[in-house]
Amino acid sequence: MTDVERRSDRSPVPAGWTYAPAPESTEIVSLRERYGLFVGGEWVAPRSGEFFETISPRDEAPLAQVAQAGEQDVAAATEAARDAFATWSKLPGPERAKYLFRIARILAERSREFAVLESLNGGKPIKESRDVDLPLAAAHFFYYAGWADKLEYAFPNRSPRPLGVAGQIIPWNFPLLMLSWKIAPALAAGNTVVLKPAETTPLTALLFCDVLRQAELPPGVVNIVTGDGRAGAALVESDVAKIAFTGSTEVGKAIQRRLAGTGKKLTLELGGKAANIVFDDAAVDQAVEGIVNGIYFNQGHVCCAGSRLFVQESIYEPVVDKLKRRMATLRVGDPLDKNTDVGAINSRMQLDKIEELVAAGRAEGAEIYQPPCRLPEKGYWFAPTVFTNVAQSYRIAQEEIFGPVLSVLTFRTPDEAVEKANNTPYGLSAGIWTEKGSRILWMAERLRAGVVWANTFNRFDPASPFGGYKESGFGREGGLHGLEPYLAFDD
Ligand code: NDP
Repeated sequence: MTDVERRSDRSPVPAGWTYAPAPESTEIVSLRERYGLFVGGEWVAPRSGEFFETISPRDEAPLAQVAQAGEQDVAAATEAARDAFATWSKLPGPERAKYLFRIARILAERSREFAVLESLNGGKPIKESRDVDLPLAAAHFFYYAGWADKLEYAFPNRSPRPLGVAGQIIPWNFPLLMLSWKIAPALAAGNTVVLKPAETTPLTALLFCDVLRQAELPPGVVNIVTGDGRAGAALVESDVAKIAFTGSTEVGKAIQRRLAGTGKKLTLELGGKAANIVFDDAAVDQAVEGIVNGIYFNQGHVCCAGSRLFVQESIYEPVVDKLKRRMATLRVGDPLDKNTDVGAINSRMQLDKIEELVAAGRAEGAEIYQPPCRLPEKGYWFAPTVFTNVAQSYRIAQEEIFGPVLSVLTFRTPDEAVEKANNTPYGLSAGIWTEKGSRILWMAERLRAGVVWANTFNRFDPASPFGGYKESGFGREGGLHGLEPYLAFDD
């Protein structure tokens, strides 16, 4: 392609040159060899006596030993949280806010350290942990600090009061951010917390305990118990007033069955299979950026990832063409390199799952495209992938892959787009690309998704509620809506 042609066709052109390495130093992070559980403001050895190794998915190098909490450990943590509740829940709102503001400020101050550790333990590109996860995590604490002394105004004439101890279980795709989504509103509302991070990504939650000490948060207000699914199950069984869970639909359903009839409150943020819908009047170059951001951000380990692309038939070819060329510019590799766009897959298990579903897509007859890219030898990697020629019944169009894999389908009319987009058991998010405001509103009314983005994708703000319909769960996190599940009311 000549330069003149390049200028007239403004879609990105694969670079004919490579980037020099730009590694972020890991020196800022100092890890202990072994971590206990954080209970009552102290590090304690697990009564179970068990530890497990946490590694970096970029090279499978061991990072630290982490405690496996047993039932007794979880019981001790909930007891510490209950003791702390007696005083924490009575603190005036402005006092609680003071601690939350402190935590927010410390997170902002130590953001580089946290970002490096997040990328090291989870595999996401440093530019994402640095520019998205950390700023948003701090913003959630700032935002909910602002509500701590205004609960009466937020819920007028309803006498809001805290529930007690909240048990919180989080996944591995946004470890510190999910912790912030859960802990900030719980504390603002006057609850105390026992939180279990995911087995593969416990380290930023453990570093966060340092922040709690630095902020002089009273002991027991936040307790962190690490471990695998058994620790999560023990937390569900323990004496807590509420469970807040983010993770797979399968485990979410099991928790819901377990809690039925117990009187414990429950919120579930589960999987998704979002439709990203591009109409023929959309700004195509912008839409292509949105498609790429929608599915390749965080290696597609995103519950609201735009994993099903619906393109209006008349623009199918140019959109797919531009998309493939844009994909060829994505840099896949070391998460700690500042130029990396797509990092490591979080775990061997997740890589196996992605590979299995991609094999199913090929076997069912879809056409696969992966840009040429050299994947590192060690660690867990998967090239950005797009499937065309996909039927709605294919597993890759129905099941959550949770990896950098996009399925492209087509539609002719807005009605057909709505029908196809809603043809999923999930209902977490959706995207619409069109220049017509009226069409955006028409579509948004009909799409059964908790969040609908228009001419953008994957936008988050602490003031904006997030959550699902159908098998994507119930309850909202973020905004005023996110406070409500942590409060009891007179009415
Ligand atoms: P899980 O639902 O298994 O994990 C989420 C959290 O729940 C983790 O902390 C996990 O612990 C814990 N947990 C596991 N089993 C139980 C249990 N029986 N009772 C209570 N807590 C439990 O998700 P996975 O990490 O295994 O991922 C599997 C799939 O889930 C992914 O491929 C993806 O499709 C989906 N997913 C969706 C997410 C979302 O944000 N909607 C986030 C993560 C995954 P541990 O880590 O130790 O297993």
